[in-house]
Amino acid sequence: MEPLASHAVTEAVSRGRRHAEPAPQGRGEFQRDRDRIIHSTAFRRLEYKTQVFINHEGDLFRTRLTHSLEVAQLSRSMARMLRLNEDLAEAVALAHDLGHTPFGHAGQEVLDGCMKDYGGFEHNLQSLRIVDTLEERYAAFDGLNLMHETREGILKHCSPANARLLGELGRRFTENVRPSLEAQIVNLADEIAYNNHDVDDGLRSELITLEQLDAVTIFAQCRREAETQWPGLEGRRLIHETVRRMINAMVLDLVANTRANTASTGIETLDDVHRAPALAAYSADMSPKLHELKIFLRDNLYRHEQVLHTIGKARCIVADLFEVYMTDTGQLPPRHQVRAAAGKPRAIADYIAGMTDRYAEKEHRRLCGGGEFY
Ligand code: MG
Repeated sequence: MEPLASHAVTEAVSRGRRHAEPAPQGRGEFQRDRDRIIHSTAFRRLEYKTQVFINHEGDLFRTRLTHSLEVAQLSRSMARMLRLNEDLAEAVALAHDLGHTPFGHAGQEVLDGCMKDYGGFEHNLQSLRIVDTLEERYAAFDGLNLMHETREGILKHCSPANARLLGELGRRFTENVRPSLEAQIVNLADEIAYNNHDVDDGLRSELITLEQLDAVTIFAQCRREAETQWPGLEGRRLIHETVRRMINAMVLDLVANTRANTASTGIETLDDVHRAPALAAYSADMSPKLHELKIFLRDNLYRHEQVLHTIGKARCIVADLFEVYMTDTGQLPPRHQVRAAAGKPRAIADYIAGMTDRYAEKEHRRLCGGGEFY
């Protein structure tokens, strides 16, 4: 295997773990992080959490688990091409969505509203809270005790107020410092994954059509390429041959442009990466095409009447649950009642955020009846 780039994250330059541990045997520190994430409870729950579609609406749609696996695949491929730390990229990718509430972004918005007077709710911060505090697996510490650079990658966004509470890890949000290139790559791999799988799921669900998508430059270009190579191709195969070309185009553009940025800025060390402007970026040719695709998905899929309907239902469920638990913490499981005694709103937000879509619905049925929903 090729040696890592001089600006890649390595164990030698890492800031390590918060609690000292003996070195792992037979695997590296970042492999150990990845393994801890895969074995966590929060990771297993991703299987039953929504990406765009409510989890039980169809077995073929992406969930947060399959989304996270796609992000990990893209991140590893790009990290390897750029000679970055593939294990770190994989660990960050697998953990990046752990803090998501049930029902996707709608759930998180409502929970943030409920928590307005108690510090708010941010899903990136919640992912960090899970790996730092909430997972209960090890005798010696709370959380998973991950490497500093893995935690830094997980915390993609953070409000300045919350960043100040995080000390060293939050510094980059108040002092305008960039995370590792591995973290930057995962961030964009996330975007590549959802833009493409939402096209695929959108077509599968028939909420959007091929004809509509022909108005989107990158889709039309890749469809034409596929049809030129395979005249008469249609249906699922045409969709996949188009989507795979879009993914390839985005990945190769991002890698080439990031490599060029790194070279032209004279980046040599990890410290240089922290101090430079964001290095992982698309070319001037690809950026507007991606923007056009995003706007298309926003207007035609995320704001589709049918999607908005399920979002409305989800909002009520999360808001109702928060209110019921705030009024009567006796409705929480015993373990969470103990946490609530130390800080009620946060303990309730943690509990609700940890729920899968179907568990939230079940709790809502139990506590609120909610006949009109089901
Ligand atoms: Mg994601």
